[in-house]
Amino acid sequence: MKKETYDRLMKFREDRDWAQFHTGENLAKSICIEASELLEVFQWTKEEKSIEKVKEELADVIMYATLMADHYHLDIDEIVNTKLDANEKKYPAELVRGSSKKYTEYRNKK
Ligand SMILES: [Mg+2]
Repeated sequence: MKKETYDRLMKFREDRDWAQFHTGENLAKSICIEASELLEVFQWTKEEKSIEKVKEELADVIMYATLMADHYHLDIDEIVNTKLDANEKKYPAELVRGSSKKYTEYRNKK
């Protein structure tokens, strides 16, 4: 996320004095609620009902995730890269390329 976008999100919250409501619990709930709204776009269909609705709900998820990272003073690039390091070990490309199996499935077959 660009710094100007991040700053705009923080200003939006600050202008409304909403940080007081942004506890870890409330932000986790909000991420799940918005992720559910994103999932709803695909309810009863294989394709999204509206790309505009996908954009809207995905933006909500990203904004709440960003606010949660801010709440815990987390560096988003650092935590994403740490998780990618773990995922690269858990899912070695040479073993899982082209497969959607969970790591427990391919590891048990070795
Ligand atoms: Mg929403």
